[in-house]
Amino acid sequence: MTEQKLSDTSAAPGVRPIGTPVPSGPHGSAGPVAPGPGAVAALRPLGVGQARLDADGLLGRWRRRNAEDTLPHCVDNLHRAGNIGNLRAAAGESDEAFAGMWFADSDVHKTLEAAAWELSVSSGDGALRSFVEDTAALLARAQQADGYLNSYFTVAAPDERWRRPDWSHELYCAGHLIQAAVAAARTGVGPELVAVARRFADLLVERFGPDGVEEVCGHPEIETALAELYRLTGHRPYLDLARRFLDLRGRGLLGPGRFGPAYYQDHLPVREAREVTGHAVRQLYLLAGMVDVAVETGEPQLLEAAERLWEDAVHRRTYVTGAHGSRHRDEAYGDPYELPPDRAYAETCAAIASVHVNWRLLLATGRARYADEMERALYNGVAAAVSSDGRHFFYSNPLQVRTGHTGSGEEAAARRLPWYSCACCPPNIARLMASLHGYLATAHDDGLQIHLYASGSVSAEVAGSAVQVDVRTEYPWQGRVELTVASGPGVPWTLALRVPAWCDAYTVRIDGGPVMAPARDGYIRLTRAWAPGTTVVLDLEMPVRQVSAHPRVDAVRGCVALARGPLVYCLEQADLPPGTVLEDVRLDPAAEVTAAGREDLPGSPVVLTARGSLADAGDSLYTAGIRRERGGAPLTFTAVPYFLWGNRSEGPMRVWIPVAATG
Ligand SMILES: [Zn+2]
Repeated sequence: MTEQKLSDTSAAPGVRPIGTPVPSGPHGSAGPVAPGPGAVAALRPLGVGQARLDADGLLGRWRRRNAEDTLPHCVDNLHRAGNIGNLRAAAGESDEAFAGMWFADSDVHKTLEAAAWELSVSSGDGALRSFVEDTAALLARAQQADGYLNSYFTVAAPDERWRRPDWSHELYCAGHLIQAAVAAARTGVGPELVAVARRFADLLVERFGPDGVEEVCGHPEIETALAELYRLTGHRPYLDLARRFLDLRGRGLLGPGRFGPAYYQDHLPVREAREVTGHAVRQLYLLAGMVDVAVETGEPQLLEAAERLWEDAVHRRTYVTGAHGSRHRDEAYGDPYELPPDRAYAETCAAIASVHVNWRLLLATGRARYADEMERALYNGVAAAVSSDGRHFFYSNPLQVRTGHTGSGEEAAARRLPWYSCACCPPNIARLMASLHGYLATAHDDGLQIHLYASGSVSAEVAGSAVQVDVRTEYPWQGRVELTVASGPGVPWTLALRVPAWCDAYTVRIDGGPVMAPARDGYIRLTRAWAPGTTVVLDLEMPVRQVSAHPRVDAVRGCVALARGPLVYCLEQADLPPGTVLEDVRLDPAAEVTAAGREDLPGSPVVLTARGSLADAGDSLYTAGIRRERGGAPLTFTAVPYFLWGNRSEGPMRVWIPVAATG
């Protein structure tokens, strides 16, 4: 995409160069992704309790909606769909038949992880805490004597245990169990989960470790989970096994399968791969594991390989919404520039995984491009997947739904559904939204870096002293960010503020006075001996942008997408005059597009008003020669944030808008 500035090649100013160990906070206080004491990373995440989202900002509202609606909804559906019943059967407490997908346990684990993050910032209601305690106890009872824990292979297919690594998702489920346990340990809720996860992890080390069988899982996830478990426990065999799973990939151990070895990234050793391939979620989870292991082992080649794959994905195979994966058939990346908006698969889990990968790469390198991409995925690809009521979800996230759309079923739904037979996405949304505050800012010895702007506060230990910055902003609706240094160590430290790649102009004021603050490599650096109460106002200009795709993205040639700040916009049938066919709307690229708040829409978004016309395309499907459209009646139309589409009525939608013919 022409809009993204992806050429920065150095670390953010002032950040620790790669190769320098990062001091870690004490175990038990970390959030998602917590590099260990010996890790080689540029930035360190803030701990649980060091970042807070106010309830009135957009991210704060998303987090609260997640707590009040999405999480209880997930818990209800785990009971209703049989996931909890499966574990009861595995524990020998019921004789119900197994229900759902063979990897249904992973939905329980993801919901547990989400609950742990939520309970770390709110007392939650008793029901959520009971869910964690009851489910952790149930998992312990369902665990076999040797540590194995998987309800499908305990209840429904005991003879198949460990026999189908290409298909079974056993290590994938184990990975999500471990992730839940790590979250529980870091937040101090459900600590018994750690014992369960460690028993299973110890079995994995025994079976798959240095003297064990040479196998990998068809669905990556175990790699990043074991790295995180190592960070929590300091037990080196977990990290060694994570690395071994990476090292064994690319040897064809999984066989060709239905879609070939590239489908599950088993076609090339991970350090040699130059292109993202296959199932997008698997590729991105694998990338997360690569970065985690690279950071802990300090292996630059592995990190370089991850960055190369990221470049291929973001430069050639990512939707303008930050979504990944074009193809429905195998939920896969397509060919370079194969990004059809109407046939976009764009699985919700892939956009979530993109946030996870970009956060890890940001910590590892300090490079602003990862924060930019994280923000794009969060505000568009991820946010669109959940309804305003927090209880309906998209699995695939098209960028266009046509008039007369007949797609039905779960994979091509034009409306959000309350649950799915393969319910990977809703609890994945829950665990990201519950931990959103963990992605706002980072720290290192020289100061604090703010990457995502949201009302709330962030704090850290900097140069041995406590530092806190309170943030007030209406971002992403407005670009003004007001920061107050609420406390300071009395010695100079650096407040680094990200200037998003989409922003061409900004101003900075300190205590009301303008200051020259050139951004370098995506960050403004303000170094002061900050007096408590010092205010900083960052004003990011947020004009409406017309975004064009690379000409090789044939599917959207002649179109632009409207964007403002981090948000991509779309047209919806609900905003057009009755009888108007959405596909006939043309944008006049020379006419000004204005932005204004709309209080009558859920969440009071800023919407765009654009001008154009209705094309008169005629009836014939094909015509001889180059087809010229006749300009039709002028039209003024509204564009709404893409993440809000489908919340009013089911109907056509499009992100990419054809530009009116000129001359
Ligand atoms: Zn999913």
